[in-house]
Amino acid sequence: MKNQPLGGNEMPRFAGPGTMMRLPAAASAAGLDACFIGVPLDIGTSNRSGTRFGPKQIRAESVLLRPYNMWTRAAPFDSLQVADIGDVPINTFDLKDSVRRIEAFYDDVLQHDVRPLTLGGDHTLTLPILRSMAKKHGPLALVHVDAHADINPHMFGEDIAHGTPFRRAFEEGLLAPEHVFQIGLRGTGYTAEDFDWARERGFTVVQAEELWHRSASPLMAKIRESLGDRPVYLSFDIDSLDPAYAPGTGTPEIGGLTTIQALEIIRGCHGLSLVGADLVEVSPPYDPQGNTALLAANLLFEMLCVLPGVTYRV
Ligand code: MN
Ligand code: MN
Repeated sequence: MKNQPLGGNEMPRFAGPGTMMRLPAAASAAGLDACFIGVPLDIGTSNRSGTRFGPKQIRAESVLLRPYNMWTRAAPFDSLQVADIGDVPINTFDLKDSVRRIEAFYDDVLQHDVRPLTLGGDHTLTLPILRSMAKKHGPLALVHVDAHADINPHMFGEDIAHGTPFRRAFEEGLLAPEHVFQIGLRGTGYTAEDFDWARERGFTVVQAEELWHRSASPLMAKIRESLGDRPVYLSFDIDSLDPAYAPGTGTPEIGGLTTIQALEIIRGCHGLSLVGADLVEVSPPYDPQGNTALLAANLLFEMLCVLPGVTYRV
């Protein structure tokens, strides 16, 4: 019998453990097929802060999650051993030291044959995760869902910030650029050519407007066909969704994806060789109803449901 989320008939949902989905906590990733990890980082943000509280609030809203997916029939806890291995002890006084600490933490996690699902935290955290992932898998394919390209050369003169991770990842050779898909980009730019830097390097950019009034499923079918069985990392910024659905974030942009399109995108990753995923930029101080964290908790469950090796009850 694999680890199971603690059920609502064993302990009221408003009580009991504070882990993701009320799963058992584990001290390391040893013996796990997938694990949840919190990265309580917000010192890489450029506007509203508060994502340091993201992991704790996502876990709090995850108490309502039950173990089966009622549409896809995924039963992740039938076949995968899953636990919450806690938070990365970042240095909240030093962003660069935090980035080093995150990389070292994931180096340790990835010694095991485990797929980490990360609760953010601002988007800076994806760079050290990709550094660690690339050591194990080589240059990665990437599905990056975001309102922003996060390819700034610098922010206020700094190399490392939440708007630069994919620029640095490209420069460091962590990505296979022809296998990078950026979905949901929109809003205002510093120049009209901001997204072209990515296109010129081989990334596929799908702006939010290209998905207005339509399903994201055909796009995901194309991405699956294009990526085949390459190792893929999924990085999902909650601000890819419209602020109507996800107001609790630091750099909101209007005209974004719907919750339904977010589900289509993540469910559309079923069949990819996902090596890990993150859900970033949930800022609880701007999320007074908890809806953004609730959405994030559900999207993380959906990510778990599409990992390789998950079985389905059909
Ligand atoms: Mn981002
Ligand atoms: Mn963003």
